[in-house]
Amino acid sequence: MKKVVKFGGSSLASAEQFKKVGDIIREDQGRRYVVPSAPGKRFSKDIKVTDMLYDCYETAVEGKEISDKLEKIQERYQEIIDGLDLKFSLKDDFELIEENFRNGAGRDYAASRGEFLNGKVMAAYLGIPFIDAAEVVRFDDDGTFNDAVTNELISERLSDLDRAVIPGFYGAKEDGTVVTFSRGGSDISGSLVALAVHADLYENWTDVSGFLIADPRIVRNSKSIEIITYKELRELSYMGASVLHEDAIFPVRKAGIPINIRNTNAPQDKGTLIVESTCRQSKYTITGIAGTDGFAAITIEKAMMNSEIGFCRKVLQVFEDNGVSIEHMPSGIDTMTIFVRKDAFEEKEQKILSDINRAVNPDHIELESDLALIAIVGRGMKSTRGTAGRIFSALAHAHINVKMIDQGSSELNIIVGVRHEDFKSAIRALYEIFVVTQL
Ligand code: ADP
Ligand code: ASP
Ligand code: MG
Repeated sequence: MKKVVKFGGSSLASAEQFKKVGDIIREDQGRRYVVPSAPGKRFSKDIKVTDMLYDCYETAVEGKEISDKLEKIQERYQEIIDGLDLKFSLKDDFELIEENFRNGAGRDYAASRGEFLNGKVMAAYLGIPFIDAAEVVRFDDDGTFNDAVTNELISERLSDLDRAVIPGFYGAKEDGTVVTFSRGGSDISGSLVALAVHADLYENWTDVSGFLIADPRIVRNSKSIEIITYKELRELSYMGASVLHEDAIFPVRKAGIPINIRNTNAPQDKGTLIVESTCRQSKYTITGIAGTDGFAAITIEKAMMNSEIGFCRKVLQVFEDNGVSIEHMPSGIDTMTIFVRKDAFEEKEQKILSDINRAVNPDHIELESDLALIAIVGRGMKSTRGTAGRIFSALAHAHINVKMIDQGSSELNIIVGVRHEDFKSAIRALYEIFVVTQL
C-alpha cells in the first residue's frame, strides 16, 4: 500500500500534535509521502501561522518594522523544535525570510513560508528528505496552476525516493516566483502528490473524525459519514461544508484514488471514505446536510408569463449581462424566483431591477434578502419515497417557514430556502428527523 498523508494546521500546531502525527506515520509503513500544512490554532483564540505571516508581510509593505512580528512566528516553530528535542535550527531561514519580506517578495511568498518551514521541521523530525514544493508544483506565468507539468515534476522527483515531506499550499512559476493556492489549499497539494505517485489512498488528517453529517458548529455531536461519493461531497462542499478544499477532489477522482478523512486526535476512528461510487448504502436516507447563509431572492410576477416565449431567457440574460451568477430558479405559472448570492447582487441591485423592467415589463417584482439555502444530500434518496414530505414535516414542527424547495434533477439533493434567523434551527430539525429519530 502506498499512501499520501496530509496533515492540517491543527494537527501540527504544537510539539504535542507533532508527536501524534509521528506515531500515526510510524504505525503504517505505507504512509510514505507526507504533506504538512502550516501550524494552525492551538486553542480557539490562537492565530494560525499563515495569518501571522500575512499580517507581518502587510506591515513590511507599509514600510514598518517587522522584527517583533517575525520573532513571534519564529517562537511558534522554536516551541515545536524544542518540544521535539530536535537539534535543528531555522535561524538562517528566518534571516533570509526577513530580507525577502523587506525586499517585497510578495504576499504569496510570505504565506507559503508557513508550510515551507513546517515541512522542514517535519522532515527533520521524521528523518526523511524534504522537497521544496516550489520545485515541483508549477504555476504558469499568468498565475494559473499547471496540472500536467506539476504531475510530471512530482513523479520524476519522487521516483527514487521511498519517503519524503512535500509542504502543502504553494508552488512556483518557472522563474521561481512563489504562488499559493487559495486558503485551505494544502488539501490540493496532497491530492496532487497522491496522483503523481499513484497512491492507493490519500489520507487527509484533520481535527474531526471524518466528514460529519452536519456542521459540528451547528449540530453538536453530529455523527460522521462512513462512506460518501465524490458527487455527494461536491454538493455538500458547494453548500458550505468546508472540511476539504473543493479543488482537492478533481486530481484524485480522475485517477480513482479514494480519500480518507481522519482525525489526528482520534486515530482509532475510521473517518470518512470518499469514493467514486459504492453499492454500500448509507445508514440513513440522507448522507449529509449543509447550508449557506446570505442569499437574496428576486420574484418576478407577470400574468400569462408562461405563454410568453423567451421570457425566462430575457430575465436570465439580465443577470448574465450584470455578471451575477444564479444559484436556483424555482418557478410557478405566473411567477419565477431567482436566488442569488446577496453580496454579488447588492451592489448591482438597482441596475438589475431596471434592466428586468425594461426586458420583460413585469407586473410586479418582489425582493427578499437574508435567506439561507440548505442542501439535504444523499444517494439513497432516489430509492426512498417521501423524503420531501419528511423535510416539510420536520421544518413545520420546528415552526420554520419554507421559502423554497428545489429537487435537483439528479435526485441526489433537495434544496430548501429558509429565513436567515431559521437557518441553524432548520439544520438541527433536519438532522433530528433523518438521523436521530429516523422517522
Ligand atoms: P484542517 O486545518 O485540518 O485542514 P479545516 O479547518 O480545513 O481543517 O477543516 C476541518 C473543520 O471543518 C472542522 O474542524 C469543522 O469545524 C469544519 N466543518 C464544517 N462542516 C463540517 C462537516 N460537515 N463535517 C466535519 N467538519 C466540518
Ligand atoms: N495554511 C494555509 C491556510 O491556512 C493552507 C492550509 O492550511 O491548507 O489556508
Ligand atoms: Mg483545511
